Amino acid sequence: MPKIHPQSPTRERTPHGTAAACPSPRFPATTRLQRTLSAWFGKNARDLPWRRTRDPYAILVSEIMLQQTQVATVIPFYKRWLARFPDFASLAATEESDVLSLWQGLGYYSRARNLHRTAMTVVTAHGGEMPRDPALIRALPGIGRYTAGAVASFAFDLPEPLVDANVARVLARLLNLHEPIDSTAGQRALWAAAIALVPENGARIFNGAIMELGALICTPRTPRCNACPIRKSCTAFANGTAESLPHKKPRRSRTELAEHCAWTVHHGRILLEQQTGKRWRGLWKLPALPSAPPAVPLLTLEYPFTHHRVMLSVFAQPAPSPLHENLAWHAISALTDLPLTAPHRRAIEQIRSR
Ligand code: SF4
Repeated sequence: MPKIHPQSPTRERTPHGTAAACPSPRFPATTRLQRTLSAWFGKNARDLPWRRTRDPYAILVSEIMLQQTQVATVIPFYKRWLARFPDFASLAATEESDVLSLWQGLGYYSRARNLHRTAMTVVTAHGGEMPRDPALIRALPGIGRYTAGAVASFAFDLPEPLVDANVARVLARLLNLHEPIDSTAGQRALWAAAIALVPENGARIFNGAIMELGALICTPRTPRCNACPIRKSCTAFANGTAESLPHKKPRRSRTELAEHCAWTVHHGRILLEQQTGKRWRGLWKLPALPSAPPAVPLLTLEYPFTHHRVMLSVFAQPAPSPLHENLAWHAISALTDLPLTAPHRRAIEQIRSR
């Protein structure tokens, strides 16, 4: 007979809203699957710096950095960050502009701002220590259900579920789930499965294992089912549907936006504009122009922004007089240390390399 959590067969963890509303899917021989996957992880886990620590601060930093950024890119940033900000207190005591500077190169600066705000909240509301209660972790700025589960399980070994892109793919295939994984119904099914699978003991290893399986074996295009330790439990493998899963909702078509900016350089200095809006607050960029001037742009490049495709055109312009309050001259030789938006840094480098 199928079993779910022989340690706690009817477990429903309600304090964080993780389990109460979700029907548990049935997995064949769940404990065997848990043990097999955890044992595989013991032999195959990559040696990553954040796997050598149980410090919730360091784990949170790695999790935030790994959102939207590849492992290989994150490693040097993670090490540099921990050397500069070893704990919540040191991060909380730093000006946001310095925090953004160190984040440079990772992009998606809202992650750095939220990490900074989280550090200030942990210092003021929790005495500088990450709370152990997953509900309190999740209440911190910018921390969603996945990140709360990751910190609770990796740092405190609490039996909290997590679903990221890798886990979603593995679970969708294990369950032969045909609902789009980015739909409400698909997400509900995935989280129910994650809740049903996470063991009472050893959640740290198990959650790491299922993520690692998605990263190394159950990969998006060509899953290596023949090397998979849990293929006997996999419904997609049994049905020959592994390569066609998971499904996603059809993508919205991208709309095009035009952005016009000024290139104003004088005696080794460049005129830049600091952003105050939500999108890039605190970062510097080329000054915006209200419309395209009647001239050939020095450069046009394209970058994605949510579901838009932005066409950035840069025009040589004289310095305005007087300077707008958000405008300032910066030495071109010192731009490396300035928190610039990624597309504008790329535009500046491309124009300068010509
Ligand atoms: S058998 Fe294949 S599809 Fe199923 S979990 Fe393993 S790698 Fe993924």
